[in-house]
Formats: sequence, structure tokens, C-alpha cells
Amino acid sequence: MTQLGTALITGASSGMGAVYADRLAKRGYELVVIARNEPRLQVLADRLAGETGAKVEVLKADLTARSDVRRVEQRLRSDDSVTLLVNNAGMGTRQPVLSEDIDFLESIVELNVVAAHRLAVAAAQVFAARGRGGIINLSSIAALHPEHTTATYTASKAFILNLTQALHTEAGPKGVRLQAVLPGATRTEFFSRLGVSIDSRFPREMIMDASDLVDAALAGFDQGELVTIPSLPDVQDWEKFVAARLALEPNLSHRKPAARYRLTGAAH
Ligand code: NAP
Repeated sequence: MTQLGTALITGASSGMGAVYADRLAKRGYELVVIARNEPRLQVLADRLAGETGAKVEVLKADLTARSDVRRVEQRLRSDDSVTLLVNNAGMGTRQPVLSEDIDFLESIVELNVVAAHRLAVAAAQVFAARGRGGIINLSSIAALHPEHTTATYTASKAFILNLTQALHTEAGPKGVRLQAVLPGATRTEFFSRLGVSIDSRFPREMIMDASDLVDAALAGFDQGELVTIPSLPDVQDWEKFVAARLALEPNLSHRKPAARYRLTGAAH
């Protein structure tokens, strides 16, 4: 085992996950790379092992299948060398939910929410018990604008953002580093898998390369950020947003409803 330990990366066969694998192997991590496409993972593993000398293990799993999620969880729980989870596998939705197949939408929830939740919580439990470890969860800027994203996708990514913030409160004091990464439009296979061209959906200046995205996200991780929005020029904009949310807190739970909800003139 290397000093840094082993990073377990879901969705490592393409896009950001493959870049995370590259960067973490080059930093000196050993890897377990996870996705459905085993031959693709093997090509990546062979290249990284050749270039860096890192030990790279391929673990084929369909994370919409709960039995496969449990296998990955077992791998994470049983191996003391695992020090980092990159909870990255995820899928987008094709069209507004009113015209979408609900079984397809549920498979997005299985992958983006159920699997990601299980792996993040399992990692938080084992890392907290060991007193060290890191969890990087791929959320999305979609978490911040439900008005402009499909319902299932924005909800799934908001779940990941809140999950990360709350796990940080619990596991942070026990030595576990948490980070939610909120990419904007990023050039990966994410859109082409849905039969959509990213260039037809966004102007060029809104699309980041996956390598820039992951390098920025890792810089944010190194700086100890809980939430990293790689595109956001001024971090104070995010801090103001959090401060506005926290300002609601003293008034979110009272014995009596707010005055505007007290019925006037109605029979009691
Ligand atoms: P991508 O290139 O499509 O990569 C998705 C990865 O997830 C692939 O390795 C894929 O591998 C894996 N995956 C998909 N379904 C899976 C399943 N059922 N079981 C296991 N693995 C599965 O997309 P990406 O952009 O890099 O996405 C990475 C993360 O970033 C996702 O969580 C996504 O929601 C988020 N994100 C992306 C964007 C964007 O614009 N690209 C923006 C914000 C957030 P296999 O097909 O081999 O299984």
C-alpha cells in the first residue's frame, strides 16, 4: 500500500471519472476503478499502471443494481487501504419528466441517489472509524437551479449536495474530508449518452473541458473546500448564498404559524 492509500472511483470508464483516475494515479494513489464497461476500464488501468507504476484494479459493476452496489460497498468496507472515495458515476435525463418513461427516471435515482448515498455513507462510517479518509461527491450546478433542469436530475444532485454538507457536519470532526463538486456543462460523454450534442445545448464559452474541471476540483479539495464550483469566479457569491440560507434558521420552526397564515373570520 502506498502512503496515500487506495482511491475508489465510480464511473471511471469515461469523462471526469477517467480524469480523476489519471490525476490520482499520478499523485501516488493506488486505484479501484468502477463502471459497467469492463474492457474500457481495463484499457485505462493498463495505461495508468504502465505510466505511473500504480496498482489499478478493475471492478465491473452496474450501480443501478443494488446487488452490485453492495459488492462495491463490501470492497470499500473490507479494505483498510481505501482512503478516498470519488463518488462520480451519474447519468442525466433526456427530456422533461412529463414526457419521460418513469422507469428510466427511477434508474437515474438508483444511480445518482441510491448508489451514491450508500457508498458515501459506507465510506463515512469506515473512514470515521479509522480517523481518516476523503469523500468526493459529484453533484452539479443543476442542484442550484431547479427552474432550468429536469426535475429528477436537479433533485438527485441537490440530494448529493445536502448529503455532503450533512455528512461533513457528522464525519468532519472525526477526520473525514468531504467535498461536493458542482460542475457546469462539461465536455464528457454525459450528453452524447442521452443522444444530445453538448454544443447544440450550450455556447462554447459555457463548456469546460473535463481535465480543467477535475484539476480545479482537486485544487478545491486540496484547499479544504466543502463545496467546489469550478466555474464560479468569486467564492464570496457562494458564501453569501449559504449565509442567506443560514439566516432563515432562527425562524424555520416555531410553535405557532406565521401571522400571514392565521385565518381571520373563519369558524373554529
Ligand atoms: P460520462 O462521461 O457519461 O461518465 C459517466 C460515468 O458513469 C461513466 O464512467 C459510466 O461508465 C458510469 N456509469 C453510468 N451509468 C452507470 C451505471 N449504471 N453503473 C456504473 N457506472 C455507470 O459523464 P461525466 O460528465 O463524466 O459524469 C460524471 C459525473 O458528473 C456524473 O455524476 C454527472 O452527473 C456529473 N456532472 C456532469 C456534468 C456534465 O456536463 N458533463 C455536469 C454536472 C455534473 P459505464 O458506461 O462504463 O458504466
